[in-house]
Amino acid sequence: MNITNTFEHPSPVIEKFLRYIAVDTQSSETSGAHPSTEKQKVLGRMLAEELRAMHAENVVYNEEHNYVYAAIPATCEADEVVGFISHMDTSPETSGTDVRPQFVRDYDGSDIPLGPAVRGSGDAPLVLSPKQFPELLEYKGKTLITTDGSTLLGADDKAGVAEIMAMAEVLLKDIEAAKAAGTEPQYRHGRIAIAFTPDEEIGEGTAFFDLEQFGADVAYTVDGGALGELEYETFNAAAATVTVKGVTVHPGEAKGKMVNAAAIAAEFHCALPADQVPEKTEGREGFFYLCEMKGETEEATLQYIIRDHDRGLFEEKKQLLRDLEARFNETYGAGAVTVTLKDQYFNMREKIDPDYLYLVDRAEAAMRDLGIEPHIQPIRGGTDGASLSFRGLPCPNLCAGGHNFHGRFEYVPVESMERIVELLLHIACAE
Ligand SMILES: [Zn+2]
Repeated sequence: MNITNTFEHPSPVIEKFLRYIAVDTQSSETSGAHPSTEKQKVLGRMLAEELRAMHAENVVYNEEHNYVYAAIPATCEADEVVGFISHMDTSPETSGTDVRPQFVRDYDGSDIPLGPAVRGSGDAPLVLSPKQFPELLEYKGKTLITTDGSTLLGADDKAGVAEIMAMAEVLLKDIEAAKAAGTEPQYRHGRIAIAFTPDEEIGEGTAFFDLEQFGADVAYTVDGGALGELEYETFNAAAATVTVKGVTVHPGEAKGKMVNAAAIAAEFHCALPADQVPEKTEGREGFFYLCEMKGETEEATLQYIIRDHDRGLFEEKKQLLRDLEARFNETYGAGAVTVTLKDQYFNMREKIDPDYLYLVDRAEAAMRDLGIEPHIQPIRGGTDGASLSFRGLPCPNLCAGGHNFHGRFEYVPVESMERIVELLLHIACAE
C-alpha cells in the first residue's frame, strides 16, 4: 500500500472526477437563494462547456438556477429516451473548500492515515479504519481516493457526474469516429438525455428541473453508494410541528391555573411509540424523529419528521399525531395543542412498480452481464428521483461508487467508478 497526493495517468472518469471535486459546490440550507450558493455555478458552466466541446446536442445551461441539460443523438431506433441525472452540490454538513484528495494504491486492509481535521493544525490525524468501516476490506488490492481529513471528498455526487460525463464522451466520440470513417457507430442506442442539478443536498434538486427541456421518457439518478447498489424505494416523508400554548401564573399561586406548555410537550412526546425512532429502526421500519424541542411555560414546540416506506403505515403515523392533538385538547382545553403536518415526498415505488419495474430489471441485468452483484434495497431517505417520479419521470437510483457520504471519511474506489461507466454504457445501449 502506498499513499500519494498525485495520481499519474488517470482514466478519463478519474481525470474528470479530480477536476470536479476541485470546485467547491457546497449548498446552503439557510441562504434561501436558488441555487442556494453562487459557487455551484462554476461547475455548472464548466460541465456545459465540456459537453459542447464533446459535441453533445442541445446543450443548455440554465444560468439563473444552475441546471445543465444535454443530449446524445440516437444511433438506432428506440422506443424511449433514457436519461441520466446527477447532482453537482455537496453537503452543507462538511466543508468542500479546497479538497485535497489522497490516493491509496494497492490497499492492504490496514488503517489509512488521513490528516488533521483542521489542515496544518498539528492535531492528531484522522484515521480511516476498517475497524470502524468494515466495507473497506472489500477493496483490498484496489486504489482508493480519500480526503486529507479536513474536508469531505465530494464523491456524492461528483462521482456520478464524472461517470455520466465519461459515458457521454465515449458515445459522442464513437459517433464522431463513425462519421469520419463513413461507418456505423459501434454503440447502438436511442437518444440519451443528461442533466446535472444543484441543491440536491438541501432537498431542492428538482425545484426548477425542466422536464420538457430534459426530454427523457424514463431516467436514472446516479447518486447511490457502493458498486451494485440499485434503489427504487424511498421513504414517504412528512414534517410535523406540534405547538403547545400554556398559561403563566406565579408558581406559588398556580394551583388549578397554570398550564405548563413545556411539560405538556414532554408528555406529548412520551405518548408516541418509544421504539419507532431512528435509533431503533432499520430496513423498512418507519419512525418519528424528534429533531428539535423548545419550550417554556408560555409556549413549547416539537419538530418531527415522519418516515415510512409503507403508505398505509405512513398515513397511520400522521393520524396518530392528529389523534393525540384531539386527546390533549380534551384534557388541557381546546387550542392547547396544534399539530401542523406537511407532506415532503412519497415512496418512488408507487410510481415504478409495476409499470416501470423494467427499468430496475434492465439495470440489474446490466450489472449481472458485467459481473457486478446487484444489491437492491430500500433507501432510508429520499432521492431527486422520488420527486421526479411523482412528476411523471420514473427514475430509479444507480450506484455512484462512494462510501461515507457527507463527511471527512468519504472515499471512493477508482475501480468502482470505472465499472460504473461501463454499467451506464450497458444500460444506455440495452435496447
Ligand atoms: Zn447525493
